[in-house]
Parts: sequence; C-alpha cells; structure tokens
Amino acid sequence: MKAGKLLEIDESFDTLIIGGGITGAGIFRDLSLHGAKTLMIDKKDFGSQTSHKSSKMFHGGIRYMESGNFGLVWEALHEKNLWLKIAPHLCKEMPFHMPAFKESKYPAWMLGIGLTMYDALSGFQNSNHKMSNREQTLEQVPHLKSVGLGGSGIYYDAVIDDSKVTLEAIYDGLESSESAALNYVELVEFHHCDDFCTVLLKDSLTGDERKIKAKNVVFATGPFTDILLDKFSEIPWRPCMLSSKGSHIWISHKKLPLNNPLVMQTKEGRLIFAIPQKEMILVGTTEIIIDGDLFDLKASEDEINYLLDNLKNYFPTAEIKREDVLSSYAGVRPLVKSTGGISAGKTARNHKIFNPFSNVHVVVGGKLTTFRVMGQKITKAVVKGIGQKYDKNRTKNPLRKQSVFGSFDIIRKVSKNDIERSLCEEHVRTFDDLLKRRMSIPSRSHWEADENFDKFFTDLLPMMNKYIDVSEQDISNFR
Ligand SMILES: Cc1cc2nc3c(=O)[nH]c(=O)nc-3n(C[C@H](O)[C@H](O)[C@H](O)COP(=O)(O)OP(=O)(O)OC[C@H]3O[C@@H](n4cnc5c(N)ncnc54)[C@H](O)[C@@H]3O)c2cc1C
Repeated sequence: MKAGKLLEIDESFDTLIIGGGITGAGIFRDLSLHGAKTLMIDKKDFGSQTSHKSSKMFHGGIRYMESGNFGLVWEALHEKNLWLKIAPHLCKEMPFHMPAFKESKYPAWMLGIGLTMYDALSGFQNSNHKMSNREQTLEQVPHLKSVGLGGSGIYYDAVIDDSKVTLEAIYDGLESSESAALNYVELVEFHHCDDFCTVLLKDSLTGDERKIKAKNVVFATGPFTDILLDKFSEIPWRPCMLSSKGSHIWISHKKLPLNNPLVMQTKEGRLIFAIPQKEMILVGTTEIIIDGDLFDLKASEDEINYLLDNLKNYFPTAEIKREDVLSSYAGVRPLVKSTGGISAGKTARNHKIFNPFSNVHVVVGGKLTTFRVMGQKITKAVVKGIGQKYDKNRTKNPLRKQSVFGSFDIIRKVSKNDIERSLCEEHVRTFDDLLKRRMSIPSRSHWEADENFDKFFTDLLPMMNKYIDVSEQDISNFR
C-alpha cells in the first residue's frame, strides 16, 4: 500500500476540519486565506459523497420561492452570479425552460410574475428571463409533449462540476500557509480540553494512526453528522439530521437531444430537472427519507423508473427506455429537521451552526451554491482567536489553481501526461478518485475516448503504480 501523508504532517493546528465535502472545503479555503494553520481530513475522497451527488446546479432555487424562503433565494442567486464571474471554467450559465401545461400548478402568466421576482431577488444580476409561446417552446425543446402546452418561461441559472469546485477550493487553500488536507483519513477518537482538542486520526488505506492537537475543531460532515457525533460521548449532541435520499440518472444526448435544461413538474407537484452536460442529459431527482448507512448509496430500480416515467411523460416521442440509462447515482441531502413535520421537500435548505463547546463548531444543512458563505461565522471566530482581522470578501477572489482535467470538456483523446500530472498533484489515492472525480468519468459507459478503456489503462499500470495502487482487476471492475 502506498504511504499516505498522515505521518508527515505537524502535530498541532489552529483548526481541524472533519469532512472534505464542499462545506469543509469552503471553510478550509477561507481559514487558509486568513493564515490560520488548518488541517482538513475526510474519511473518503474529498468531495466524493453528497458534494458529488448533487444536481450540479449553482442556482437560487426557484422552488424555494413557493415556500417564501426569499432570503435563501437572494443569497444563493448572489453566490451563483459571483461564481459565474470568478470561476467561469467551473460554472456555466444556462437558460432553464419551464413549460406550462393545462394541468401545471402555474399557468404561463403566473410563471412570468414568478420569474420577474426571481430576477429581482438577484438584484437584477441574472440574465433577464424570457417567455416563449406554445410554438416557440415546441421548436426550442425537441420531443416535448404538445398536449395542453400553453408556453414556457425561460430563466437563467448555472451548472457546475460539483466535485471539481470542492477540489479546487481545497487546492486554493493549500496554495497558502501551512495548511494540509488529507483524504482517506478518519476521526477515531476525540477529547476536549478548554483550550484545545486532542484527536486520534487513522488513514483507512494504510492503517497509520496519529494523535493531533487543534485549538478549534469544525465538524463539516454533512448528512453523516448525527452518526459520527453519536460515537463521541464527550460531545453533547441532540440528533437533528433529516436524511433525504436523492437519485439521478444520465441519459445519452443522442436519445434526448436537449440543448438547454428543462424543468418538469411531477404528478405529485415536485419539480425535477433534465440538464444537458458533456453530451449527456442529467435527470433528477427523487426525495426519500432514509436511515442506516449513508455512505456510497446507489439509486434503486424504483427511483430509476420514477425518473424514466416522468421523462416519458414529458418527451413521449423520444421513446426513452431503461437501456438508455448510461448510469445513475444517489446522495443524501444534509437537511436539518424543522420543528414542524418531516417532509423533506418542505424542509428549508438553510444551514445551521451549533457549538457544543466554544471551540467546537458543527455546521450542517445548506447548499452547494452557498458554500462560500456558510462557514463565515466560524471562520471569523477562529481568525479573531489567532489575532487576525477577518475579511469576508477575501474568498471573492478567483481560485488560484485549476484542475488538470477541465469541467465541461468531453475527453476524446486522453493525454497520459495529464493523467500523470493529476496523480502527482491532485491528491489521488485510488483509481476511482482518478476516474470519477479528477477526470469526471462517472462510469465505464461514459468513456468517450477513441482508445479501448481496458487496454488504455492497463498500458498505464506501471506509471500509475508509481503513485497509487491499481491492479488489472481494479480496471476491469470499474463500472
Ligand atoms: C440529490 C441531491 C441534489 C442536490 N442538488 C443540489 C444542487 O443542484 N445545488 C445545490 O446548491 N445543492 C444541491 N444539493 C445539496 C448539496 O449537494 C449539499 O448541501 C452539499 O453537497 C453538502 O456538502 P457537505 O460538505 O456538507 O456534505 P458532504 O459532501 O457529504 O461532505 C461531508 C464529508 O464528511 C466526510 N465524513 C463523514 N464522516 C467522517 C469521519 N468520521 N471522518 C472524516 N470525514 C468524515 C464524508 O466522507 C464526506 O465527504 C443536492 C443534494 C442532493 C443529495
């Protein structure tokens, strides 16, 4: 087994962040930009859990307007418009078509009013919405059902490579200071003293263990928070998470030739999306309350069929079948229980911060889109504690390091040099990390390069094994 870096790092830090999803990555970046010596760890690969299982949108959340959560929509739209400017390589604006049918909750005229409000909530930074009549809509959206169609509204949100933005936030943090970030390292023991915490960390690939001291600890463990904190009796914690599973499917663009995202309303009145990305269409999502193990979930056949049924209803002439599903994935929304009912759809997406001790912070909930601002309160407290002035605008600067593989490129010709650079520079520890999150290839069926998948990677084995452990079996098992 190739050595990890756990045994090489310092043994004391200003802050330890547990969880390297987008929430932890955002706090890590902010703290590092302020010169706080920070260590971030993740039990799995960075950005491999919820932050890689999203609908891949930076958006205001059109449906949160329905529940009157205008504050969240305002904040998310401002964040979306900021990221379009500072990370255009990761975040791309697209026109979202929202058709109105006879049976839709909102007729076209009402859509117009809603979309005007949406633009207003962005401080009119959004590209302005438009309205299309029935004929224009049918021209703009191939295969869309025509029965009962009145027209459509078109508003502007953004698509994003979710795990790449997580990784690049981490790379940016690593550019400054004495900070460090370790994947496949988990928290095993936790002890609290007034001024600092002592933790035992374990590298799950090598088995190495190390004791670390940190003045502050931040839990940014998303939906896994209740399960993790339940293990440490020293931390007073009342479970608060509502685990809501959401699944997606990828369909080939040849089968459903959409050029722009489409918003669909299900029979139960939920909104689901079909979003073109990389010559494929991403369709999601479902919403199911679950419990038990939340790591590396899979979409169930029922969920896949539910998404397919909705697609068939909207695109009757496209003749989409089960075999047109290239791949699927599932994640868990880190929702925080509201005092009211337990409907996942109606639970607010706002984040919450808890302090079981003054130097132990737990941040839960929120959205990918608002990650930059979610941890600012925590960061401010830590930065003040090390005698520095906090500047909430520092994270508005562009990310300083870009990924080797671009976000929206279709890989037809893979450069072996790029693979070696990624292995060497991008914290890759397994073959899965390289393929899924550095090269953005969700499964074998998404391989677009001219070369044969198995032969290509088998020829690279000697080079790859200089950096990570990979076998022919790993290559053939990649599905
Ligand atoms: C189906 C779905 C669709 C969504 N779509 C969107 C969208 O389009 N736009 C949007 O803005 N938001 C969206 N969201 C919400 C968004 O994805 C989440 O809010 C965000 O990714 C949560 O990030 P996180 O860092 O809090 O959690 P995670 O990404 O899950 O990160 C938590 C990390 O903690 C680690 N961890 C757990 N236990 C330990 C331990 N013991 N030691 C060390 N590490 C540990 C995990 O490995 C994990 O990497 C969606 C969510 C879902 C589920």
